[in-house]
Amino acid sequence: MTTYNFSSGPAVLPRDVLLQVQQELTDWHGSGMSVMEMSHRGPEFTQIITEAEADLRAVLAIPANYKVLFLQGGAHFQFGMIPLNLTQPGDTVDYVNTGSWSKTAIKEAQRYANVNIVASSEDRNFSYVPDEAGWQRSANAKYLHYCSNETIGGVEFPFIPQSDVPLICDMSSNILSQPLDVSRYGLIYAGAQKNIGPSGMTIAIIREDLIGHARAEVPTMLNYKTHADASSLYNTPPSFAIYVAGLVFKWLQKNGGLDAMARHNATKAALVYDAIDGSGGFYRAPVSGACRSRMNVPFWLKDAALDAEFLQGAEAAGLVQLKGHRSVGGMRASIYNAMPLEGVQALVAYMADFARRHG
Ligand code: PMP
Repeated sequence: MTTYNFSSGPAVLPRDVLLQVQQELTDWHGSGMSVMEMSHRGPEFTQIITEAEADLRAVLAIPANYKVLFLQGGAHFQFGMIPLNLTQPGDTVDYVNTGSWSKTAIKEAQRYANVNIVASSEDRNFSYVPDEAGWQRSANAKYLHYCSNETIGGVEFPFIPQSDVPLICDMSSNILSQPLDVSRYGLIYAGAQKNIGPSGMTIAIIREDLIGHARAEVPTMLNYKTHADASSLYNTPPSFAIYVAGLVFKWLQKNGGLDAMARHNATKAALVYDAIDGSGGFYRAPVSGACRSRMNVPFWLKDAALDAEFLQGAEAAGLVQLKGHRSVGGMRASIYNAMPLEGVQALVAYMADFARRHG
């Protein structure tokens, strides 16, 4: 039986990539070494990291005036690095609050700067993206921050916000899921463990003019300039994660790039939302309309007493990691790039069958 993994992250990776990793695990390209065993300054790893960056630049069409940084510390580190690098004490910054990850970013930024919440969807339990026309922007913000896809709430921005100040985005859970106009942003960041590769690596794509303004007391490792100047090799980088991510970037190119991913993801998301909406109320999604996430689909059963049985039956059918986040309850199906269409088809067939048996 095939297992389909709906985890929100670390999450499913392309099977072809895993098989290639397996094949190369003990001997990378005739070097006699595993990538895990190589010096990060040797010719082999130099080739790996150089190709990974070049392939990511090609896939995302990253303009030449942006640096690509392979960092550590997860998106959480970025929550602090951003204000520490882009503000001085007393500065004001703008944040949009659309859910759990926005909130965590805001809380960290509040330690270093005056945070103005331009808009919040907390009034309706983070089930929508506030209309941009009503955002209360500050006159003197150093940047505007938002989270393009709230992994827990399942809310995704259907647009890129307008901004006169550098636009900063947490794209941890929807980067590489569709084509993107990088030039609209000052800084994009994402933890790797959804659409990029294994955990332990975080990617930052930063416009060059935003580098070099960190506070004097910022630790060397938390200064973007340190990593930009050293091409992500200031210290030992997460080398194995960079290697696997590089294979994922090649897999994306081989499979039609981000246009193809966008179509693939739209098809999968439509299947799941149609299954929910067409269930006659047996299943319900907390998010409606255009801001439904194409990556993370939270949904509830009409009777929470059936949750345990739903999950047990799903597991028996090879559909794993469907339990919703503890703060939302119910179920959550994460259907990132690497989730095959067959996995989603198996999920909706199981959902229909379960509803028939319990409706
Ligand atoms: N932002 C988003 C949108 C996330 O989904 C997550 C969790 N995966 C984080 C931030 C935090 O990431 P990390 O655990 O890598 O710090």
